[in-house]
Amino acid sequence: MAIIANIISEGTAKKNVETDLIQMKGAYCLIVQVSKSSTIKIGSLGIINFDPGYYIYVGSAMNSLESRVHRHLNTAEKKFCKLRWHIDYLLTAPGVKIIRVYEFVSKNKIECTIAYVLSQRYAPVSRFGSSDCKCGGHLFKVK
Ligand SMILES: [Zn+2]
Repeated sequence: MAIIANIISEGTAKKNVETDLIQMKGAYCLIVQVSKSSTIKIGSLGIINFDPGYYIYVGSAMNSLESRVHRHLNTAEKKFCKLRWHIDYLLTAPGVKIIRVYEFVSKNKIECTIAYVLSQRYAPVSRFGSSDCKCGGHLFKVK
């Protein structure tokens, strides 16, 4: 009986871990490579010219950080192309890919704090990803 109890409790513990991962809240940074000079229509922002290089996009997911990041990775691989956020328009463009992801688990909305820190060093792409806040933008060309 003890063994069964252990299995049940391990099963329960595992389920809780998975649930925690799925419901993990926080912010993320996508390191995006634009391999060639690109003119892309970014939804309501209109046409934007992107020079080749590396960009950092800062976003947040207050429901599920993991599934949001997976969605972006799928979009960048052109497997999932539902256009909702500004970043979706960039990621679906040819020659654009995500080369690295950083996740920051937090119950607080820290994306604008990260964007602020980045803005001290890099100029944002004006209003990109910042429709719902007062930041200059949440996408920065870094290299
Ligand atoms: Zn912001």
